[in-house]
Amino acid sequence: MWEIKKKFITDANIKAFNPEHRKTINFNISRYNESVEEGMLQFKNSELAKTRAAFLKHKVINELEKYLIEFELNFTKNGGKIIWAQDATEAVREILQIADKHQAKKIVKAKSMTTEEIEINTAFEKEGIDSIETDLGEYIVQIAGEKPYHIVTPVMHKSKEDIAELFNKQFDLDANSTPEDITSFVRKRLRKEFTSADIGITGSNFLIADTGSVALTENEGNGMMSVSFPKIHIVVAGIEKLIPSVTDLELFWPLLASYGTGQRVTVYNSIISGPKKENETDGPKEMYIVLLNNKRTELLKKERQRIALSCIRCGACLNACPVYRNIGGHTYNTVYTGPIGSVISPYMNGMTDYHHLSFASSLCGKCTEICPVKIPLHKLLLVNRNDWVKEGSVPGIEKKTMWGMKKVMLKRKYMNMGSYGIRNYALKKILSKTWGPRRDLPQLARKSFNQQWKENNN
Ligand code: SF4
Repeated sequence: MWEIKKKFITDANIKAFNPEHRKTINFNISRYNESVEEGMLQFKNSELAKTRAAFLKHKVINELEKYLIEFELNFTKNGGKIIWAQDATEAVREILQIADKHQAKKIVKAKSMTTEEIEINTAFEKEGIDSIETDLGEYIVQIAGEKPYHIVTPVMHKSKEDIAELFNKQFDLDANSTPEDITSFVRKRLRKEFTSADIGITGSNFLIADTGSVALTENEGNGMMSVSFPKIHIVVAGIEKLIPSVTDLELFWPLLASYGTGQRVTVYNSIISGPKKENETDGPKEMYIVLLNNKRTELLKKERQRIALSCIRCGACLNACPVYRNIGGHTYNTVYTGPIGSVISPYMNGMTDYHHLSFASSLCGKCTEICPVKIPLHKLLLVNRNDWVKEGSVPGIEKKTMWGMKKVMLKRKYMNMGSYGIRNYALKKILSKTWGPRRDLPQLARKSFNQQWKENNN
């Protein structure tokens, strides 16, 4: 438990004082902020749009079993096959079985955080199966041997110069290559992969209950290619991805585009309803959806935190968060980062190892303010902290400190004990380690509020 927390604190310290990291992130987020302002202009009443979206998603989460059954029924009618996976191990085992059945040697993958969650690429690698990321950002992260930095923009931590340097090292491209040069190089390389892949794997932005379809949103067309060329299409999606009806996309697509990237609508939006039909020329012969639980039901059991399952993974709360912007995505050491990651990761990855994430917040509330589905993120962080205390997992020294503080604070005579100098000295002694070396501990006032009150009212 302490190793993970210790690593988090060490990495956070390194990142927060790295001027290059700060410069790149501030630049990329400032461009995002400008685009979002532009994208939001499409809503006459954005508050109403958010309220409607929140209502629909909260309704789905509260009646999840009903919508899951409806989705399964309709998707199966469309000719697709549903695989229920209780955890990452089950999901990986099922996917490998499909790959084995079709003797797959090459997989093309569109961006999907759910496949990151089950670490499918590592499993393919062990089996000697070539798995190629086809989203440009994910492709860059893959060749750099890193994990995605951000749930929407996986390569946000790299400048265009960093990427040119990476391609120079990996593929001997000119060290001064422009983003256009690099994109064109990757496009040519990937074309061959799409047409020769045995299986295409994608995530799903939304699972549509009333039509049994998958809604996929992307900007590069790589998702559509991953679905169209290979004979087999596998979707990996969390059970919370449902929306009630295909007509709800009218609301969710623009909302996701505006909050995710600042676009009015994302470039490619596909609705995929099962494998290729008899009268169709393109599409896979078989389509599977792996519906992943992986502790989502643990979160569902929590009356107050279950609302976090409404998240549409737009990434807006990450960009708004002062902590995320300073410590960066990799420091969290989890798939889902930023405020939403800090709320859900302690349940998905274990409270004992990841409780500290719920404390990694200034509680400024900017995340709650920005969230398009109105998840009260900063309040949920407090609920998580409360759970951590109620579970009795707080270390002995912290418990004793709190007990002592309570004793002192409840008795006026203890609060007034000692001179001004002694009180400040004692405070410094007790708190200096926790307070850290980079900021000054505030001084206690010469006179307590209680003393000032008495003086002023006599
Ligand atoms: S919690 Fe809200 S703001 Fe954050 S990623 Fe999810 S939907 Fe977007």
